[in-house]
Amino acid sequence: MWITEHRVVSMSSFPEILADRFRRFKHRHYLPNAEQYEELAAYGQDPEAMIISCSDSRVDPETIFSAMPGELFVVRNVANLVPPYETGGKFHGVSSAIKFAVLNLRVKHLIVMGHSGCGGVKAALDQSAAIQTESRFISRWMSMLDEARLSVLAAHQMSPQAEKLSALEKECVKTAIKNLRTFPFVSEREEKGRLSLHGAYFDIGNGTLSVLNHSRNEFFPL
Ligand SMILES: [Zn+2]
Repeated sequence: MWITEHRVVSMSSFPEILADRFRRFKHRHYLPNAEQYEELAAYGQDPEAMIISCSDSRVDPETIFSAMPGELFVVRNVANLVPPYETGGKFHGVSSAIKFAVLNLRVKHLIVMGHSGCGGVKAALDQSAAIQTESRFISRWMSMLDEARLSVLAAHQMSPQAEKLSALEKECVKTAIKNLRTFPFVSEREEKGRLSLHGAYFDIGNGTLSVLNHSRNEFFPL
Protein backbone atom coordinates (compact mmCIF):
# COMPACT_ATOMS: atom_id res chain seq x y z
CA MET A 1 0.00 0.00 0.00
CA TRP A 2 1.53 3.33 -1.07
CA ILE A 3 -0.44 5.39 1.35
CA THR A 4 1.52 6.38 4.46
CA GLU A 5 0.43 5.57 7.97
CA HIS A 6 0.02 9.24 8.78
CA ARG A 7 -2.20 9.71 5.74
CA VAL A 8 -4.36 6.75 6.76
CA VAL A 9 -4.86 8.30 10.17
CA SER A 10 -5.54 11.76 8.82
CA MET A 11 -8.19 10.32 6.51
CA SER A 12 -10.02 8.78 9.46
CA SER A 13 -12.76 10.67 11.19
CA PHE A 14 -10.80 11.01 14.44
CA PRO A 15 -11.35 14.63 15.58
CA GLU A 16 -8.41 16.74 14.47
CA ILE A 17 -8.63 18.90 17.59
CA LEU A 18 -8.01 15.83 19.76
CA ALA A 19 -5.16 14.67 17.54
CA ASP A 20 -3.59 18.12 17.98
CA ARG A 21 -4.14 18.05 21.75
CA PHE A 22 -2.55 14.61 21.93
CA ARG A 23 0.54 15.83 20.07
CA ARG A 24 0.71 18.75 22.50
CA PHE A 25 0.40 16.37 25.47
CA LYS A 26 3.11 14.13 24.05
CA HIS A 27 5.46 17.07 23.57
CA ARG A 28 4.76 19.13 26.68
CA HIS A 29 3.84 16.50 29.22
CA TYR A 30 4.77 12.96 28.24
CA LEU A 31 8.28 13.52 26.97
CA PRO A 32 9.42 15.65 29.94
CA ASN A 33 8.03 12.93 32.26
CA ALA A 34 8.97 9.95 30.14
CA GLU A 35 11.01 8.36 32.93
CA GLN A 36 8.01 8.37 35.25
CA TYR A 37 5.80 6.82 32.57
CA GLU A 38 8.41 4.14 31.91
CA GLU A 39 8.49 3.31 35.61
CA LEU A 40 4.69 3.15 35.76
CA ALA A 41 4.66 0.87 32.73
CA ALA A 42 7.30 -1.40 34.25
CA TYR A 43 6.09 -1.58 37.85
CA GLY A 44 2.36 -0.88 37.52
CA GLN A 45 0.17 1.60 39.32
CA ASP A 46 0.06 2.23 43.06
CA PRO A 47 -2.52 4.99 43.59
CA GLU A 48 -3.33 6.14 47.13
CA ALA A 49 -6.88 7.18 46.31
CA MET A 50 -9.88 6.22 44.26
CA ILE A 51 -12.23 8.94 43.13
CA ILE A 52 -15.80 8.40 42.04
CA SER A 53 -16.96 11.46 40.18
CA CYS A 54 -19.49 12.56 37.59
CA SER A 55 -18.92 12.14 33.86
CA ASP A 56 -19.62 15.85 33.49
CA SER A 57 -16.86 17.38 31.35
CA ARG A 58 -16.42 20.28 33.77
CA VAL A 59 -15.38 18.27 36.81
CA ASP A 60 -12.28 16.34 35.86
CA PRO A 61 -10.69 14.92 39.06
CA GLU A 62 -7.16 14.76 37.62
CA THR A 63 -7.33 18.46 36.76
CA ILE A 64 -8.95 19.52 40.04
CA PHE A 65 -6.38 17.63 42.12
CA SER A 66 -3.43 18.39 39.84
CA ALA A 67 -2.79 14.67 39.60
CA MET A 68 0.08 13.01 37.85
CA PRO A 69 -0.41 9.65 36.11
CA GLY A 70 -0.58 6.78 38.57
CA GLU A 71 -1.86 8.91 41.45
CA LEU A 72 -5.65 8.62 41.17
CA PHE A 73 -7.80 5.62 40.32
CA VAL A 74 -10.93 7.17 38.82
CA VAL A 75 -14.42 6.00 37.99
CA ARG A 76 -16.80 8.46 36.42
CA ASN A 77 -20.49 7.95 35.81
CA VAL A 78 -23.73 9.92 35.71
CA ALA A 79 -24.01 11.79 39.02
CA ASN A 80 -21.08 10.05 40.76
CA LEU A 81 -23.27 7.27 42.11
CA VAL A 82 -22.39 3.92 43.62
CA PRO A 83 -24.97 1.12 43.41
CA PRO A 84 -25.55 -0.80 46.65
CA TYR A 85 -23.61 -4.04 47.01
CA GLU A 86 -25.28 -6.98 45.30
CA THR A 87 -23.97 -10.03 43.56
CA GLY A 88 -26.87 -10.80 41.22
CA GLY A 89 -27.35 -9.27 37.81
CA LYS A 90 -24.80 -9.41 35.04
CA PHE A 91 -22.45 -6.48 34.69
CA HIS A 92 -21.10 -4.40 37.53
CA GLY A 93 -18.76 -1.77 36.17
CA VAL A 94 -18.63 0.49 39.22
CA SER A 95 -18.57 -2.38 41.72
CA SER A 96 -15.73 -4.10 39.84
CA ALA A 97 -13.68 -0.93 39.90
CA ILE A 98 -14.30 -0.46 43.64
CA LYS A 99 -13.33 -4.06 44.37
CA PHE A 100 -10.17 -3.80 42.29
CA ALA A 101 -9.17 -0.51 43.93
CA VAL A 102 -9.80 -1.73 47.47
CA LEU A 103 -8.63 -5.35 47.29
CA ASN A 104 -5.93 -5.26 44.63
CA LEU A 105 -4.58 -1.73 44.66
CA ARG A 106 -5.29 -1.32 48.39
CA VAL A 107 -6.11 2.36 48.08
CA LYS A 108 -6.22 4.22 51.38
CA HIS A 109 -8.93 6.70 50.41
CA LEU A 110 -12.26 6.39 48.62
CA ILE A 111 -13.52 9.81 47.60
CA VAL A 112 -16.93 10.55 46.13
CA MET A 113 -16.98 13.95 44.44
CA GLY A 114 -20.24 15.64 43.50
CA HIS A 115 -20.60 18.98 41.79
CA SER A 116 -22.84 21.96 41.16
CA GLY A 117 -25.22 22.01 38.20
CA CYS A 118 -25.30 18.22 37.89
CA GLY A 119 -27.59 17.23 35.00
CA GLY A 120 -28.13 13.74 36.40
CA VAL A 121 -29.17 15.03 39.82
CA LYS A 122 -31.39 17.67 38.19
CA ALA A 123 -33.13 14.94 36.17
CA ALA A 124 -33.66 13.02 39.42
CA LEU A 125 -35.04 16.11 41.14
CA ASP A 126 -37.41 16.94 38.28
CA GLN A 127 -38.02 13.24 37.64
CA SER A 128 -37.57 14.19 34.02
CA ALA A 129 -34.87 11.74 32.97
CA ALA A 130 -37.23 9.36 31.23
CA ILE A 131 -38.78 12.22 29.26
CA GLN A 132 -35.42 13.82 28.39
CA THR A 133 -33.77 10.66 27.21
CA GLU A 134 -36.72 8.50 26.18
CA SER A 135 -34.71 5.81 27.85
CA ARG A 136 -34.95 3.83 31.02
CA PHE A 137 -31.18 3.77 31.49
CA ILE A 138 -30.86 7.12 33.23
CA SER A 139 -34.16 7.07 35.07
CA ARG A 140 -33.36 3.64 36.47
CA TRP A 141 -29.81 4.71 37.40
CA MET A 142 -31.08 7.89 39.06
CA SER A 143 -33.71 5.96 41.02
CA MET A 144 -30.86 5.37 43.49
CA LEU A 145 -31.62 8.93 44.60
CA ASP A 146 -35.34 8.37 45.25
CA GLU A 147 -35.00 8.36 49.02
CA ALA A 148 -32.67 11.36 49.06
CA ARG A 149 -34.97 13.28 46.71
CA LEU A 150 -37.95 12.79 49.01
CA SER A 151 -36.03 13.94 52.06
CA VAL A 152 -34.66 17.02 50.24
CA LEU A 153 -38.14 17.93 49.00
CA ALA A 154 -39.54 17.54 52.51
CA ALA A 155 -36.79 19.65 54.09
CA HIS A 156 -36.77 22.39 51.43
CA GLN A 157 -40.45 22.82 50.63
CA MET A 158 -40.28 26.59 50.31
CA SER A 159 -36.77 26.84 48.86
CA PRO A 160 -36.05 27.89 45.28
CA GLN A 161 -35.26 25.11 42.82
CA ALA A 162 -31.53 25.97 42.74
CA GLU A 163 -31.30 25.40 46.49
CA LYS A 164 -33.10 22.08 46.23
CA LEU A 165 -30.75 21.02 43.46
CA SER A 166 -27.67 21.93 45.44
CA ALA A 167 -29.04 20.08 48.49
CA LEU A 168 -29.75 16.97 46.42
CA GLU A 169 -26.30 17.10 44.80
CA LYS A 170 -24.81 16.93 48.29
CA GLU A 171 -27.23 14.21 49.40
CA CYS A 172 -26.18 12.31 46.29
CA VAL A 173 -22.59 12.20 47.60
CA LYS A 174 -23.85 10.95 50.97
CA THR A 175 -25.97 8.28 49.25
CA ALA A 176 -22.95 7.05 47.30
CA ILE A 177 -20.93 6.84 50.53
CA LYS A 178 -23.76 5.01 52.28
CA ASN A 179 -23.86 2.53 49.40
CA LEU A 180 -20.07 2.14 49.48
CA ARG A 181 -20.40 0.96 53.08
CA THR A 182 -22.71 -1.87 51.94
CA PHE A 183 -19.67 -3.49 50.29
CA PRO A 184 -18.33 -5.88 52.96
CA PHE A 185 -14.67 -5.35 52.00
CA VAL A 186 -15.15 -1.57 52.20
CA SER A 187 -16.81 -1.51 55.63
CA GLU A 188 -14.35 -4.07 57.05
CA ARG A 189 -11.35 -2.02 55.99
CA GLU A 190 -12.92 1.20 57.15
CA GLU A 191 -13.57 -0.31 60.59
CA LYS A 192 -9.96 -1.47 60.80
CA GLY A 193 -8.74 2.01 59.89
CA ARG A 194 -7.14 0.84 56.66
CA LEU A 195 -9.50 2.76 54.41
CA SER A 196 -11.09 6.22 54.73
CA LEU A 197 -14.24 7.32 52.98
CA HIS A 198 -14.60 10.96 51.96
CA GLY A 199 -17.24 13.15 50.36
CA ALA A 200 -16.41 16.25 48.32
CA TYR A 201 -18.41 18.78 46.36
CA PHE A 202 -16.96 20.98 43.63
CA ASP A 203 -18.69 24.26 42.81
CA ILE A 204 -17.91 24.89 39.15
CA GLY A 205 -18.88 28.58 39.16
CA ASN A 206 -16.61 29.70 41.98
CA GLY A 207 -14.03 26.92 42.12
CA THR A 208 -14.77 25.94 45.73
CA LEU A 209 -14.19 22.41 46.94
CA SER A 210 -16.19 21.50 50.03
CA VAL A 211 -15.47 18.41 52.05
CA LEU A 212 -17.96 16.31 54.00
CA ASN A 213 -17.54 16.36 57.76
CA HIS A 214 -18.89 12.93 58.72
CA SER A 215 -19.68 13.71 62.34
CA ARG A 216 -21.64 16.87 61.46
CA ASN A 217 -22.97 15.39 58.22
CA GLU A 218 -22.30 18.69 56.46
CA PHE A 219 -19.96 20.04 53.78
CA PHE A 220 -17.35 22.66 54.61
CA PRO A 221 -15.19 24.52 52.07
CA LEU A 222 -11.45 23.83 52.03
ZN1 LIG B 1 -22.96 15.55 37.21
